[in-house]
Amino acid sequence: MFYKITIDDLTLRGRRMFLRVDFNVPLEGGRIMDDSRIRAALPTIRLAVTRGARIVIASHLGRPNGKVDMKFSLRPITRRLQELLERPVDFAVDCIGTEAIQKSKQLNDAGVLLLENLRFYPGEEANESGFSQKLAQLCDGIYVNDAFGAAHRAHASVVGITKFVRQAAAGTLMQKELQYLGMVMGAPPKPYIVVLGGAKVSDKIEVIQNLLRTCSHMLIGGAMAYTFLKAQGLPVGKSLVEDDKLDLAKRILDSAAEKNCRLLLPVDQVVAKEMRKGTEVKICSVRETPDDWMGLDIGPATVENYSKELAGARTIFWNGPMGVFEITPFERGTLSLAYAIAEATKRGAASVVGGGDSVAALHKAGVSEHITHISTGGGASLELLGGRTLPGIEALSNH
Ligand code: AMP
Repeated sequence: MFYKITIDDLTLRGRRMFLRVDFNVPLEGGRIMDDSRIRAALPTIRLAVTRGARIVIASHLGRPNGKVDMKFSLRPITRRLQELLERPVDFAVDCIGTEAIQKSKQLNDAGVLLLENLRFYPGEEANESGFSQKLAQLCDGIYVNDAFGAAHRAHASVVGITKFVRQAAAGTLMQKELQYLGMVMGAPPKPYIVVLGGAKVSDKIEVIQNLLRTCSHMLIGGAMAYTFLKAQGLPVGKSLVEDDKLDLAKRILDSAAEKNCRLLLPVDQVVAKEMRKGTEVKICSVRETPDDWMGLDIGPATVENYSKELAGARTIFWNGPMGVFEITPFERGTLSLAYAIAEATKRGAASVVGGGDSVAALHKAGVSEHITHISTGGGASLELLGGRTLPGIEALSNH
């Protein structure tokens, strides 16, 4: 990255700092179901506390569509943040306006104020200049972005505000994300194994094309595999296939061969007639998919092939589940690869995992702590790995 300034370049003591974070946590009836995103922002907040900043924190939560909707209030997060930081956190019921300005000005050095949901205003997603300017009134010319998960969105608190501050810098989490995702996009130590799964090839075309240039092997699973298998003339039964992407899949297979990257596809699979818990399942070769059955997970021979490749890896990137891991008979492939990636990491490989489902699978497998870096941004990480520039990074001040 880093022609962009970071929080380390800022003078913080006694100054109000606007900190954009991603506290978009799952809530059920006001209860936080997973606080990983809050924890992920703690290093930056703690650093700002140590350096005596007056910290004004802003985030979006859910999709209130530009209207006040208390279901998406950030208030429940105040308490959790307070517990995790072990210091008081004030809350402003509006993210702009008199009360928020007043509360920001009442902060002492190392004081923390959390603002209400940015998306209660349509100006946030519309990147409205007037709204951006009002947000900027809450700081003394310094802005820090630690919301990697929102960096692919040109929103007011991500892009617009940077025009109204003197310095816009990357936070610690943002730097870490860019460091690790930069590593897997560059030329990391080989063997470099990329594992891609999930529903659609079309969502990940740019990522596949970009990473095929540098990886040693690409292991494909999930529904995405069936578009490749069908492109090779294999029977796919009722499996999820993108018929309009068959030519593209053929081109990808050809270009992998040219680039000396081995693209591996499942050799066997778990099939069922319905995508339902407890339904009848069979394991069969991908050459023998019955007409009225669909492939819902990779099979044991594929798990073994893929695990063998992962065991020898020095660098691993994983995005997307190998099957319908949310439903019990179809989670084994995804969980087995989560274990294999964790084992390889214990033996010294660097592993980077991105995307909500893969991260959920790591938690389900209980191996999260063995992964080198778990990305907090699914969409943002795919856009970055696909070679796009992220507006939230571009908007930061250059050195
Ligand atoms: P994505 O968001 O593209 O990473 O896709 C994730 C979704 O793909 C998950 O909800 C999985 O249940 C689903 N998925 C994975 N494998 C299959 C499959 N073989 N058939 C249907 N859906 C699948």
